Amino acid sequence: MAAAESEQDPSSPSGEFLSFSARDTAQRWLAASDLKQEVYRHLALYVPRILCQGTGGRDSREEQREELGCQLLLLAPLEWFLLGAEPGAGLAHLQQNNRPSALCGHVFKVGEPTYSCRECAADPTCVLCMTCFLGSVHKEHRYRMTTSGGGGFCDCGDTEAWKSSPFCQTHLPDGGEAPEDPVSQLSPDLVARGYSLFSILLKYAVDLLTGDQQDQQDRQDRLPEGLEPPERADTYFCMLFNDEVHTYEQVIYTLQKAVSCSQREAVSFATTVDRDGRKSVRYGDFQFCDQAKSVIVRNTGRQSKPLRVQVMHSSVVAHQSFALKALSWLGGIIQYSDGLRRILCQVGLQKGEGENSTLVDHLMLNDSKMWKGARNVYHQLLMNSLLMDLKFKKIFAIQFAKNYRRLQTDFMEDDHERLVSVTSLSVQLFTVPTMARMLMVDQDLMGTIIRTFVDQLRHRDLQGRFQFDRYTAQQAFRFQRVQNLIGDLKYVLMSPPDQWTDPLRIKFLEGLDAFLDLLRCMQGMDPVVRQVGQHIEMEPEWEAAFTLQMKLSPVISMIQDWCRSDPEVVLVQAYRKVLSMLSQSSGGLPDGEQPLSLVLAGHQVETFRYQVSQERVSIHLPLCRLLAGLHVLLSRTEVATRFPEQLPLGELAPPLLMELPLRCLVLCAQVHAGMWRRNGFSLINQIYYYHNVKCRVEMFDKDIVMLQAGASMMDPNHFLMIVLSRFELFHVFSSADARKRYRDNKDLVQQNTLIEEMLHLIIMVIGERYVAGIGQVQPLDEVRREIIHQLSIRPMAHSELLKALPENGNKETGLERVIDSVASFKKPGVTGRGLYELRPEWNKHFNLYFHHYSRADQSKAEEAQRKSRRQNGEDTALPPPPPPPLCHLLGSLVNLLQCDVLLALEGAVLQWSVEPGGGSWTESMLQRVLHLVAMALLEEQQQLENRCGEEDVTFSYTCKITRPGEAPSSSGSILALLESLQNAPHLEVHKDMITWILKTVGTIKTIRERTSTSSTFTVSQGAGPEETGRDRDKAERKRKAEMARLRREKIMAQMSEMQKHFINENKDLFQQSLEEMEASTSAAEYSSPSSALTCASKVCVGPRRVGGADLRQLVTCILCQEEQEVRGAGKAMVLAAFVQRSTVLSRNHTCTPEPAGRDPVFMHPDLPVGVHTASCGHIMHATCWQRYFEAVQVKEQRRQQRLRGNTSYDVENGEFLCPLCECLSNTVIPLLPHLATPGHSPDPPSLEAWLQTTSQLIAALHTCRKTPEGELEGAEPVPEGFRLDFSPHRPFSSSISEMITTFSLAVFKVGLKVEPDEQDGRVPVVGWSTCAFSIQSIERLLLDEDKPLFGSLPCRQDDCLSSLVRFGSACWTSVPQNTVYTHFSRLLAVLVPDRRVENSPCILNLDMFHLLVYSVLSYSSLHSLDQSGRSSVDVGHLHLLHLVTVAHLVQVLLTCSTGEVCMDQDGGGSEEEQLTLQLYCFLRKHLSSLPDVSPWQLWSRVKAGILPFLRAAALFFHYLNSAAPPADLVAGPGQWESLCSFLSLPPNLLLLYQTHQDLLDPLVLSWIQHPGVPPLLRGGIQHPGVAPLLPGGRVTRFPRESNRLIELPEDYSVLINQASSFTCPRSGGDKSRAPTLCLVCGAMLCSQSYCCQTEVDGEDVGACTAHTFTCGAGVGLFLRVRESQVLFVAGKTKGCFYPPPYLDDYGETDQGLKRGNPLHLCPDRYRKMERLWRQHGIPEVIGHAQEANQTLVAIDWQHL
Ligand SMILES: [Zn+2]
Ligand SMILES: [Zn+2]
Ligand SMILES: [Zn+2]
Ligand SMILES: [Zn+2]
Ligand SMILES: [Zn+2]
Ligand SMILES: [Zn+2]
Ligand SMILES: [Zn+2]
Repeated sequence: MAAAESEQDPSSPSGEFLSFSARDTAQRWLAASDLKQEVYRHLALYVPRILCQGTGGRDSREEQREELGCQLLLLAPLEWFLLGAEPGAGLAHLQQNNRPSALCGHVFKVGEPTYSCRECAADPTCVLCMTCFLGSVHKEHRYRMTTSGGGGFCDCGDTEAWKSSPFCQTHLPDGGEAPEDPVSQLSPDLVARGYSLFSILLKYAVDLLTGDQQDQQDRQDRLPEGLEPPERADTYFCMLFNDEVHTYEQVIYTLQKAVSCSQREAVSFATTVDRDGRKSVRYGDFQFCDQAKSVIVRNTGRQSKPLRVQVMHSSVVAHQSFALKALSWLGGIIQYSDGLRRILCQVGLQKGEGENSTLVDHLMLNDSKMWKGARNVYHQLLMNSLLMDLKFKKIFAIQFAKNYRRLQTDFMEDDHERLVSVTSLSVQLFTVPTMARMLMVDQDLMGTIIRTFVDQLRHRDLQGRFQFDRYTAQQAFRFQRVQNLIGDLKYVLMSPPDQWTDPLRIKFLEGLDAFLDLLRCMQGMDPVVRQVGQHIEMEPEWEAAFTLQMKLSPVISMIQDWCRSDPEVVLVQAYRKVLSMLSQSSGGLPDGEQPLSLVLAGHQVETFRYQVSQERVSIHLPLCRLLAGLHVLLSRTEVATRFPEQLPLGELAPPLLMELPLRCLVLCAQVHAGMWRRNGFSLINQIYYYHNVKCRVEMFDKDIVMLQAGASMMDPNHFLMIVLSRFELFHVFSSADARKRYRDNKDLVQQNTLIEEMLHLIIMVIGERYVAGIGQVQPLDEVRREIIHQLSIRPMAHSELLKALPENGNKETGLERVIDSVASFKKPGVTGRGLYELRPEWNKHFNLYFHHYSRADQSKAEEAQRKSRRQNGEDTALPPPPPPPLCHLLGSLVNLLQCDVLLALEGAVLQWSVEPGGGSWTESMLQRVLHLVAMALLEEQQQLENRCGEEDVTFSYTCKITRPGEAPSSSGSILALLESLQNAPHLEVHKDMITWILKTVGTIKTIRERTSTSSTFTVSQGAGPEETGRDRDKAERKRKAEMARLRREKIMAQMSEMQKHFINENKDLFQQSLEEMEASTSAAEYSSPSSALTCASKVCVGPRRVGGADLRQLVTCILCQEEQEVRGAGKAMVLAAFVQRSTVLSRNHTCTPEPAGRDPVFMHPDLPVGVHTASCGHIMHATCWQRYFEAVQVKEQRRQQRLRGNTSYDVENGEFLCPLCECLSNTVIPLLPHLATPGHSPDPPSLEAWLQTTSQLIAALHTCRKTPEGELEGAEPVPEGFRLDFSPHRPFSSSISEMITTFSLAVFKVGLKVEPDEQDGRVPVVGWSTCAFSIQSIERLLLDEDKPLFGSLPCRQDDCLSSLVRFGSACWTSVPQNTVYTHFSRLLAVLVPDRRVENSPCILNLDMFHLLVYSVLSYSSLHSLDQSGRSSVDVGHLHLLHLVTVAHLVQVLLTCSTGEVCMDQDGGGSEEEQLTLQLYCFLRKHLSSLPDVSPWQLWSRVKAGILPFLRAAALFFHYLNSAAPPADLVAGPGQWESLCSFLSLPPNLLLLYQTHQDLLDPLVLSWIQHPGVPPLLRGGIQHPGVAPLLPGGRVTRFPRESNRLIELPEDYSVLINQASSFTCPRSGGDKSRAPTLCLVCGAMLCSQSYCCQTEVDGEDVGACTAHTFTCGAGVGLFLRVRESQVLFVAGKTKGCFYPPPYLDDYGETDQGLKRGNPLHLCPDRYRKMERLWRQHGIPEVIGHAQEANQTLVAIDWQHL
């Protein structure tokens, strides 16, 4: 804390600082009579001199000095004074004697992980920090993990926050009671000093921070008395404050203008303003600062409120800065002692004069006037002090509640986010149940919150209802902010009390009054009137009303919970209050008008004259719905039966109660029937939300309940008649010939839908009994039933189920408690997610008319259920499941089923159905009626089975349906109608159901007969009636055919849409082929020529090889569908390809981008950057492709004129999508014919002879090149048979040559990031390099995946490599010969010293495979000069292979042992080992630094080290010479021997060296004597003469390790925790908002933020994009830690998101971390992603993702 005095910085500006003694100052203070005066004098003197000197480009040194001065001159004396001792020792002493409370109180940083136990937390706001969580029992429970938004603290140790286990291991109380008063533990002197010092400091800080500075210019410069600086200089700051109105861009732009700073400075200012809330942007005299101020105000004030700027005197700014430091200091000091903490609390809450006189009050009430940084500091102090002291937390809470209204009003005027408002502390206070209740009783908190809320929404209509339509932006903003109050209300009501007291009852009911006032303002708001004639002009605003409804829903539910916990008093009182409020507000129901009298089936009822389709109707009826909820509670708590006299049940007018909900339900039905089309989308949306899971509990569900309550209190006939009347269907059923409908009715279709909807409503009113209180069910039964019905639609993932279930106030749905009993879990594979499937035994609980099904859900579920029944060989009837019995209060509901009006309805519909077709009835209608009939039968059967005596049976449905219909024209009874319908051919679909009904009727009759005869005979129910299976099958077929036809039509309609997405739909397929690497056509290709040859003769290189020239290649152009043979002289065919730079093979991720002038002839063995080529394998004519590409270009130009940017591919860079598979491509590879098999020359030259000829030739070429053109005479002799002036015959047609150039230049451009230049000598080299690199990368993948070398590649890769290599071999034909000679001579010079070639790299700095490929491919050019015809080019290839192999052997031997401990293992001394040792000894003789290694070890390392090279070489020559591979390289991992023999090498590779030892020894010697070798072997710096290819000059060892993505932790929260402590590297310790992890190298980046933007190629890019250029050659994979989302980027404009490899226990990812289930690494998915990366598949994935989802294209990926 305190710095020792000896540490003073000698460079302090003033000598006075040096002589300062904190101790003496403290002593002087102790002696002072007026301490405040002394301290103030000290501060007045020093604060302005130390703090805030100057502004702008302050370096960190200056900041340090300021920090030091502050500590030594200002804080140290305070510490000395307080502790009366040396601060370090004093604080240690304090801490030692402290008995800390058991609260953890860790304050969360932004982004830190927090944990909440879903089993033990009192509510979801109770959280633990990671340390506490890991030390608690909750980690074994079901928990939820989230990232903190900052603020808030760990609740560990708070017994009220946890239902059990409130302590972690660390905070477990050690038994000793914490002292009652911690102050008594301190010495009286300390206490006294503490009081006085804390009072002075706190007052000082409060005065400075809360001084009203905004109003007057002169006041703002006035310092509190005693603080005026000795001399007042003309030094000012121009202070800029932040707001939430202006954007970063605006601020940066303005600043550059106003204070003429650079862009970077402006960004830095803006960042600080955003973070701290203010920043001085100019320092100088008043006028200078004022000038800047007026520019800023003028510039930003045009469209909106100007930015807040203030010119402040430097001394004021200095004191304010110190005030903040003093508050932080106080917060720090009290951490050492609970006693001091309490003293500070007492000081802070000490009352002065007047109401809000404490210092804390002052702070709170000025909160909205302070800047962000100041607020944060004092909020932090409040949390560390008042909220950590249980006694003072209470006192503070009271003050907070007292000031609640004012604080909220201030917040409303303020424009800062809530997180930095003191009002956000409510969560700390109100979620403590005892505290909340205390505040409710003493401070009327509930009422205060609600009234404050209501007051803020002032916009009302004439009836006093809220009016949200035509909201202005400012009102909308206010509405946004005021919603926080509902959050507070939720905290207060979160847990209903266990024990009620009378004061609590009184205050709750008073609060309820306020709440009812609020609901009254909502009752009937946003009414709608049906539009006829024309469409509405403007969609009315509906969202605000629904937002309010949605936010209030949990509160409404909680109020019901509170009522339920005290049924006898609170519930009854509440019920009365709601009822009376409702009757007050129902004045809107017309009573003046003449009631309407309805007569039907012998019953008569009177009702309103009202039609939904013509008058105003509202969807918002919260009062009715609250009453419905309470009514259910009356039934559930049995108050209604126990104390009927308490209830005003007699006063209820059921028709009045249900009137409004019924209208609302009718509205929905009419909307479904298409009667409200002209009212636009706003109404559709409202209806949607009315049924949506977020709202339905307190909307739709309650309306049904209200209808149930109403019906249970009425004559069922009357109820149904009113319903009919509201549905405007009464006349349909009441007319004399109801059973015959008019066919010419023009609204028939509409009417039919209405009848369906009405029947459905009746089914729901009678059948929906899964609410405790309606039916006799347990609470979990309701959830179970929801789940069963969701899973009846299809198997679902956990999160899908969760989304379909309503949450309670604790964000729980109860899903986990029942899911396992009804469903089985199916784990996910590498893609997809885990699914729950309904267990078949629950199928019988399926109800087709489940009230939460949408029509779409219903038909899907119906289809699924029928299908599963058919599969099980059952009939397809879907009768209703047996319902649970009704509760007593609603018992009479069942009578609806057998009332006369319903029977009349049923009769009518059945009668209509007798006639096939005609449109006067619908199948849905009939199905619903059958369902109702079945429900009635079930009811009767249940009654009969459960009765105790005869009188229990009140149900006689079976008897009633045998009566003939009552309408005059009626024909038969319902039963008779059913019997006649059973065999009606047009009702085949319903036959099973009708049969079921008739069977049940029979069963019931039997029971009745049996009981009347007292027989004990049991009826068997199993036997079904005989069926004529054929008829049924026929009908089923017909139905299927009809459905198929409909489906076809639908498909036709969607066809164009589908076509567009075809590729995206199938992208998995393309992807799969990559993943599985299945053998495909490529394997077939070489089976034919090889069949004749024996295995041993399969050789791919050298004169003995067998070529594939006889293979005719017939290919089809995907564009014109024409077939074409690949011939050198023919039309060029090309393969769509994508070329990219790649760092995937290198484990070194720090290489900086190399300069454009790089010499690519030599590749470093670490393979830092390569050029990778891939293809989707689709072939086109070159001309067809050119036409296609031109069309794409034209289209793109036209499109760009209309709208900017936005395709997934960049045409200007040559990118296009493969016309067939839409794979991202940027060039084409020409297809070339196979090479001819060499003619067998009898006597191929030996290595020695060949070397000699070749060297001679090179020498000749060297010299002849230097002579003037024309004459080709050289100084050196030309070897026999060679002609230097020979210009080889170009073997290709012009179109093929042109394509070779096209591809060469494309690779050149991408590979070297330069403009294409045909003259550049590096063009062919880059072409060769992409051959070598692509082969190496594929070899590596095959090796790591244990795939056979040949035959396991998918054909797209096979085709790509084959055409690449053949392209490589023809590369030389399209460039000047001399260029190729030069390259060859340089390449050869590495192995065979050539004095004419300078700067040859040493062999340790070379990748031998690249060397091999380049030299073989360039040799052809040289060989073409051979006119002797005596040797084939293959001889050269073989010798080159031998030479390079020996060089690689030496390379491996040199590097194999560096830095490793030699473990001796006795070997048998095989020939290989002996020869290896021999070579090694030769090397050691000349390089003494080589360690001693055993022969066995040497050979095994050589074998392992050289294997990748041999495999890659085998692939290369296989493709070059079209040679068929031996069988065991195709089938298995490949034997060493067959690999060697395929390459024409001896299995003992050392023989290569031994047989030519005399020739090779000098060469080897020259290799190891290269000046670059020794330093590399020492691991030191490279030889100065040799340009390093890699910084650091590390030596590469073989085999190279495979590159992998970084290791990820198993538990995702570990990552979150890591990221939360990550700070932005650029803005001085500030937390990064979007910490992002590079999966390639493990770097953490500060993404998506201004602070970390850098310039790449003249463009500002975010940290991720910038990183890809150093880490991944432009391609990157990142994990956005806070979002749990993987980000792929490629280049500056392309990117996509990818599912992260972390899954929860339900096999789902949680992108955005919204659900908070614990996440664990899924290694398989991570491997899959890794493979994608190593296959260079990232750009392709991005391309497909962007094509599939156009919104991805618009994202500015480069800013991430
Ligand atoms: Zn903790
Ligand atoms: Zn703890
Ligand atoms: Zn727990
Ligand atoms: Zn074509
Ligand atoms: Zn393609
Ligand atoms: Zn990286
Ligand atoms: Zn940053």
